[in-house]
Amino acid sequence: MSSPEDTPRDDTRRDDIAPDAPAPDGASLPFWRAKPLAAMSATEWESLCDGCGRCCLVKLEDEDTGRVAYTDVACRLLDAATCRCSDYERRSEIVSDCVRLTPESVAELNWLPPTCAYRLVGEGKDLPFWHPLVSGDAGSVAAAGITVSGKVAGSENEFGLFELVDHIVAWPVRWPRGAKGGAQTGVKTGVKTGAKSQTGARGRRPKADEQKA
Ligand code: SF4
Ligand code: SF4
Repeated sequence: MSSPEDTPRDDTRRDDIAPDAPAPDGASLPFWRAKPLAAMSATEWESLCDGCGRCCLVKLEDEDTGRVAYTDVACRLLDAATCRCSDYERRSEIVSDCVRLTPESVAELNWLPPTCAYRLVGEGKDLPFWHPLVSGDAGSVAAAGITVSGKVAGSENEFGLFELVDHIVAWPVRWPRGAKGGAQTGVKTGVKTGAKSQTGARGRRPKADEQKA
């Protein structure tokens, strides 16, 4: 079982997210600054995912503290090279604890990485510099060190629960060096509807007693 000291909190690095200046009003604002998540079209919603793959890492929850720790072990469907789900259409059938992101769930999933675009926008923040919608370059996510590519120890199929504890890492909840969290956009979360999403995130949380099984 992991200790609180080596278990990143689910809200780890919140202090890394700088509350920058509010965005000005204006019709020219990009959609993620002008709309709440629930008002986005399916295409806009999908484009928010930067493909980092961080949410598809196996996570552990401390049963005593509720703290969630990321590991460097990937969901069995994650292609660690491309950081994409290898069977996105059938992911829910194959991985029962794959969590579909919706405006509602984004507001509730406090283990989403602080760098996750959904989390940032849901919290009224701007997208970071590496996001393809900002940079115009899909390669900027990897260049900024945000993707899991090259950092994954293996698939969950290769590790037992006890072994997962030895793979707890902090980097999935960290910002790249010198980067700050998204600026405030002034857009409220607005999580009110049942908007559908095709974006999946992994919410597996083995409890400590499961680890002893
Ligand atoms: S849902 Fe968020 S954490 Fe997951 S891959 Fe997309 S941007 Fe990254
Ligand atoms: S989307 Fe779901 S099933 Fe696919 S790799 Fe991520 S956590 Fe696994």
